[in-house]
Amino acid sequence: MESEQAASERGGGTGGNAPRTQLCTSLVASTVQGMLAEAKEAVQKGADIVEIRLDYLQQLDPEKDVPSLLHLCPLPAIITYRPVWEGGKYDGPEAERLATLRLAALSGAAYVDVELKVAPLFFAVGGDPLPPTTKVIVSSHDYEQTASEEELQELVERIHATGADIVKFATMANDITDAYRVLSVLRRCPVPCIALAMGERGQITRLLAPKYGGFLTFGALSPDRVSAPGQPTLQQLSSLYGLKEQGRNTAVLGIVGNPVSHSKSPAIHNAALQAVGLDAVYVPLLVDDMASFLSTFTDLDWVGLSVTIPHKQAALQGASEVDPVAQQIGAVNTLVRQADGGLKGYNTDWSAAITAIERGLRPGLKAATDAATSPLSGKTVVVVGAGGAGRALAFGAAAKGAKVVIANRSVQKAADLAAQLDPPASACSLDELASGAVKGDVLVNTTSVGMQPQVDDTPVPAAALAGYELVFDAVYTPLHTRLLREAAEAGCKVVTGDTMFVGQAEDQFRLFTGVEPPKGLMSRVVLDSL
Ligand code: NAP
Repeated sequence: MESEQAASERGGGTGGNAPRTQLCTSLVASTVQGMLAEAKEAVQKGADIVEIRLDYLQQLDPEKDVPSLLHLCPLPAIITYRPVWEGGKYDGPEAERLATLRLAALSGAAYVDVELKVAPLFFAVGGDPLPPTTKVIVSSHDYEQTASEEELQELVERIHATGADIVKFATMANDITDAYRVLSVLRRCPVPCIALAMGERGQITRLLAPKYGGFLTFGALSPDRVSAPGQPTLQQLSSLYGLKEQGRNTAVLGIVGNPVSHSKSPAIHNAALQAVGLDAVYVPLLVDDMASFLSTFTDLDWVGLSVTIPHKQAALQGASEVDPVAQQIGAVNTLVRQADGGLKGYNTDWSAAITAIERGLRPGLKAATDAATSPLSGKTVVVVGAGGAGRALAFGAAAKGAKVVIANRSVQKAADLAAQLDPPASACSLDELASGAVKGDVLVNTTSVGMQPQVDDTPVPAAALAGYELVFDAVYTPLHTRLLREAAEAGCKVVTGDTMFVGQAEDQFRLFTGVEPPKGLMSRVVLDSL
């Protein structure tokens, strides 16, 4: 991964001499005045171009309104007058619609958008020739699906053959691999091209348009004005995803999950990538089938992936090499591209939580520890919960030489996990823990008990906490759970769950980039978002 400075010095950061991808927003107010107000807002929010959707206007007097909109619009405009038969709102006579588009061109529109089906008709109409300053975008929309790569390629050629200055195609992504095909066709397109895969599964086509050479990408003016699922805002495109800094060689990182739109990982990783000046961007990836995703997204510049629910087991299967503790846990939350194209799997959930607990026990601890040197060595660690986080903490504590006890609502699940540890751990019920029959030095909660909105719940009653040296809670919404408040009152040291969340992201960042994340930055981004 190279720095942004190095990328721009050799002309690579913005794709050499390739024109920069424009940032566009659609104006969809119902009145001319409303559209002009939106256009002003678009300027403030960093748009380069606006798309004036004439079909959204409740009333339109073409001879008066089109020249006036174009004259008063502070940015270059695409005039679009989308008919119902192509997913728009206009349902009047076709001849009037095409005449309005020609009028827009003759009135100085920088771009007019004409649908592929009527493009031959549009170009064939007599009268004044179109001014050379107006570029014609010929567009095609498929709201159902994304065709094969060969069919998309053929579509691009057909659009270009009409005389289009700019090719546009938008298709529905039903799977993230649909978005990959769209990006592949975009990258190879020899003429200016706008290529979009609609829906959340196609969002990367919007976020990575500069990397793949897109002519423009659309962003909404604000989150409440997102007009299609998966559409980011202008601000997200320019700040979070660094649209204007992206180029052909920008490395891609991302978080694979389902759902994934709520994830804080893009915010924290992009903040760190931008702060250290790496030419890389981190995107959310809504994935249904991990195996087909991994076998499709094999490009070497897709350098690393964070993996979350429900794909951590499938990520382990898709890795060409797996870190030994991740192998024992049976879950991988980090995949790092190797020089041979394979992916090496790690689990940074356990390392982050265990390091936070070790530092809680021995403040100032810096060096990496092992089973002999860890402050957990020889201590009894009670892991409450036997799900994904429970497995990570149990194997992690065992790797540091701790004696492990698993307490879980489903005791059989606790026993199954205990039997997999080496040496085998013991298992108990939550009642045994609550009664004080089972005790330890460190208690870690890996259940969701106490998480918002059930903030008055606790997995272990206050009376059972006395005597623990330290209590850790994986729950971090809220930060100070009832469990941690009562543990502190009982005299225990406490470690909050954000340390695990931030720590796993910092460890991933090191693995992805080989660079130290800026101290405290990821933590600040997480805490600001809570
Ligand atoms: P998971 O695999 O679904 O496991 C959930 C665990 O919680 C199971 O042991 C389950 O017991 C137990 N549980 C659920 N509801 C319960 C209840 N009402 N009473 C008692 N036990 C209950 O989930 P996970 O991925 O391990 O995540 C668990 C928690 O850890 C979540 O709150 C998650 O947000 C948090 N977490 C935090 C981080 C971080 O970075 N801080 C990372 C990962 C996870 P049964 O087996 O009996 O169902």
